[in-house]
Amino acid sequence: MSEEDFRTLCILFVLICVVVLMFLFSFYELCVVPCCERRLSDDVQIVLETYNGGGGGCVICQEEYKDGEDKAALIACNHKFHTVCVATWLMNNDTCPLCRTYVV
Ligand SMILES: [Zn+2]
Ligand SMILES: [Zn+2]
Repeated sequence: MSEEDFRTLCILFVLICVVVLMFLFSFYELCVVPCCERRLSDDVQIVLETYNGGGGGCVICQEEYKDGEDKAALIACNHKFHTVCVATWLMNNDTCPLCRTYVV
């Protein structure tokens, strides 16, 4: 094999590597990222309210609501949870933590 051939092979190899990397990257962009970031977009309909007495607690973190705390009510079933708790929950689930109604 001449030096010229060897150089051509090297260039071909690098080109193939670049194409494979670009393919993997676009696969990651198209498939992996949307799956992870798909949730809690505009799809989930909630009503935000501020707690001001009345008792009850959030079933996700098992804590009582405190005055002035943010709560979110799911439109689909009207169950209420801490905004932060329900946002975290809906990153991995499509359903209400309490009654399993689909909220997405
Ligand atoms: Zn909570
Ligand atoms: Zn519910």
